[in-house]
Amino acid sequence: MFILYPDKTLKKKSKTNKAFNSSLYEIIKIMIKKIINVSDYIAISAVQIGYLLRIFIVKYFFKKAFFIFINPKILWRSSLYFFSYEGCISIPKFYTYILRNKYIIVETYCNKKFYYKFYLKNLISYVFQHEYDHLNGKLIKV
Ligand SMILES: [Zn+2]
Repeated sequence: MFILYPDKTLKKKSKTNKAFNSSLYEIIKIMIKKIINVSDYIAISAVQIGYLLRIFIVKYFFKKAFFIFINPKILWRSSLYFFSYEGCISIPKFYTYILRNKYIIVETYCNKKFYYKFYLKNLISYVFQHEYDHLNGKLIKV
């Protein structure tokens, strides 16, 4: 169902989405379907289901609403850090502490032209950084 560690696909860098078309939205729909009923995890990147595209989605506080991040970027990271205790849908039953920036400013795209910026703090900031690492082929387990 998910690409699992140590599959080499997870180490690859995902590509920027150039076309905001029905096939992109189809992939997002598949991602939502795959994560909606998974109770232990709150986010998924496209690479974890085999698409090397810069997309990830985060369940809104475990409810059935989603943040969809397309071509996200981290614009600023606080110099304040926090040890976040994390698991990964691609590494079942593995949990570890990871040093994360406590606050970040990010941008994400709705389509080719429109993007918006967010200020994220605490849990959602750590989740964003975890998924952002997936887009660059970085995992919580080396
Ligand atoms: Zn993960």
